[in-house]
Amino acid sequence: MSSAIDDILANAVEHEADFEGPRAVIPTRHLAIVTCMDSRIDSFRIFGLDSGEAHILRNAGGLASDDMLRSLVLSQRLLQTREIVLMHHTQCGLHGADEPKLRAELAADTGEQPAYEFGAFEDLDEAVRAAIRRVREHRFLPHRDRIRGFVYDVETGHLREVIV
Ligand SMILES: [Zn+2]
Repeated sequence: MSSAIDDILANAVEHEADFEGPRAVIPTRHLAIVTCMDSRIDSFRIFGLDSGEAHILRNAGGLASDDMLRSLVLSQRLLQTREIVLMHHTQCGLHGADEPKLRAELAADTGEQPAYEFGAFEDLDEAVRAAIRRVREHRFLPHRDRIRGFVYDVETGHLREVIV
């Protein structure tokens, strides 16, 4: 039986054949983009980026979780990024998700609950503002003056800035 992984591996062979050569580890735009893992978000196409230009940091929801902050600290302190885009999106799986129900199901299935929060939210713009606040308050980040938040509409491709 074929798997999705098997299906995509043929492309990796083509990728190597077309490979354009090595690039520097420091992102040339000194930019980090934090966004959701949603498969409809193609940050490279939205922002016209090429590989080697920006860090793309993703998790479920594009939330400023502890691990996201860890990645941002490394992005700035070791790899010289200076600006941050926080991009949420419409139709996010976490938008309006029933976190207590999910936790109850996990507890019923396994007898325990995860220590982390899933981060379900009710208000999309407020979730962006919360992420901006959390990043701005993270004192291990040396560059916190150029942080902007956006909502990407997965149905139209429209990008809207969330004003704080
Ligand atoms: Zn999402």
